[in-house]
Amino acid sequence: MDIDWSQLGFHYTETDYIVRASFHGQWVNGELQGEWTKPYATTDKYIHLHLSATVLQYGQEAFEGLKAFRGVDGKIRVFRWEENAYRLQDSARGLKMAPVPTELFGRAIRMALERNLDYVPPYETGATLYFRPILIGTTPRLGVGPGVDYEFVVIPSPIGPYYPGKFHCTSFIVNRRVDRSARYGTGPFKVGGNYASSFRATEAAHLMGYDCLFLDSKTKRYIDECSAANFIGIKGNEYLTPRSEEILPSITNKSLMTLAKERGMKVTRRKIRLEELADMQEAAACGTACVISPMDKVYDPDKERTYHFGSEPGPLLTSLYRTLQDIQYGRVNDDHHWCTVI
Ligand SMILES: *Cc1c(COP(=O)(O)O)cnc(C)c1O
Repeated sequence: MDIDWSQLGFHYTETDYIVRASFHGQWVNGELQGEWTKPYATTDKYIHLHLSATVLQYGQEAFEGLKAFRGVDGKIRVFRWEENAYRLQDSARGLKMAPVPTELFGRAIRMALERNLDYVPPYETGATLYFRPILIGTTPRLGVGPGVDYEFVVIPSPIGPYYPGKFHCTSFIVNRRVDRSARYGTGPFKVGGNYASSFRATEAAHLMGYDCLFLDSKTKRYIDECSAANFIGIKGNEYLTPRSEEILPSITNKSLMTLAKERGMKVTRRKIRLEELADMQEAAACGTACVISPMDKVYDPDKERTYHFGSEPGPLLTSLYRTLQDIQYGRVNDDHHWCTVI
């Protein structure tokens, strides 16, 4: 095996094994009953799938994303995997799929790690082993409705550090033309369909050199989130993050809120009007991939207005970023028991 760790970006690098498990069931009085097989590791990265499978016909697909970190002490830590298991269960219920039991999820992640230990990047590189669990409907079906068979797969891939050089800012553009999800739609679930439907907006933004900031789909007045990351704003000593029916509950955001409270910041989740950006000293997107992606500016093309936060990441977000990374890399005590050492 020969990997140049410094060349890894956020793209797929094949490892030796993926891990799979299957569910076969039937509907009994409106309830899906059935059983999951044990997880097993395989070198085959392809599956034999009927072309009428519900994942291909009706989009029954959900996914997750989490990381294993090689720590300063050489130990490998998986960050808050139980939270990913619970969220995948929510997403499964959201699309009428069979939820993956927490215990099965954990065993599959452990197996995917233990079978690919050579792919966990060394501590100094800042790279990590990323896991992409997916859940798909495999029942062949033409009539519209959910299937009774599901496949759970954990796909590992080493990925590079999000900030190979310096922790830096990204520019965002406000989008009012495309909704990534509808009010009371699938926004709170991590499903592929939300991404496919947002590509028109995110690709247009990228062409202009921006990342996309979505507003609430109904009124277009409140900040929702970024395409794959929650929004955080800092106003004085207050940590602000949107309350909305159509955003994904980010585990990174939840962790940062805990850390912010512990350092005496006021943490508020509420509806946030776009214009309130003018009163914030710092703003960022947050998620597993970047941890925190600070914003230097948010451009609102419809109102021809730009909100500026300075060209360098602000002090509070930088400090929260470092604290979370210190926990993930084992540089400080994991008082919250967020890491599972493997
Ligand atoms: C995955 C994701 C996030 C970030 O969640 P984390 O658990 O922090 O990785 C935020 N928004 C959307 C839409 C996502 O899909």
